[in-house]
Amino acid sequence: MINTEMKLRLVEEAFLARESSYAPYSRFKVGAAILTTDGRIFRGANIENASYGATICAERTAAVKAVSEGAEAFVAIAVVGAEENANLEALDLAYPCGICRQVLREFLPTSGEMIILVATSPTAFFETTLHALLPHSFGPEDLDYLME
Ligand SMILES: [Zn+2]
Repeated sequence: MINTEMKLRLVEEAFLARESSYAPYSRFKVGAAILTTDGRIFRGANIENASYGATICAERTAAVKAVSEGAEAFVAIAVVGAEENANLEALDLAYPCGICRQVLREFLPTSGEMIILVATSPTAFFETTLHALLPHSFGPEDLDYLME
């Protein structure tokens, strides 16, 4: 899969992405960084809207950037989220929301596993998998009958 050095790189990229967050309403700034199976890294930040429902999460921002640039699957994603003035050295875990878990599910690599890194500082993270966060999920193969 990916080594510790790459995981820390992704976390670093997520922190950099968070700096571009547009969160004037919640003041909860989130950054994400996705490593694609073709070896590229895409950053994303949460982008809020005065019409709250039009808000998009950092994870989905990174995902749509990656896919719209030709990526087909994701190896890993790092996420960092916290209120605007949080102490970045000691963050609470901010997991991807349900909608983002489903969007990430669409781009599972053929290995069937995607690593999720939830940062608690620029050098520390909790590691889990998409499968652990979204068990018994619905995905593209459930619609394979349409291809017959
Ligand atoms: Zn989300």
